Amino acid sequence: MRQCPECRGAMAEDLKVTIKGAMYGLKITRKKRGLFNNATAEPKAAVCSNCGAVAFYVENPDDFRE
Ligand SMILES: [Zn+2]
Repeated sequence: MRQCPECRGAMAEDLKVTIKGAMYGLKITRKKRGLFNNATAEPKAAVCSNCGAVAFYVENPDDFRE
């Protein structure tokens, strides 16, 4: 369970992130050394059902390790 950084409440996670008015979402890319070694991820969102705080996260943070 993801804990809210603001109030320590429970956050609803695995929420899809999209741009309003568009069908596509966000993508995070980290360029690494080597041609095809970029790390990419589509961020997901978590929302605190207590205070409304929003957090973004990726499912495989290891991919972004140097
Ligand atoms: Zn909260």
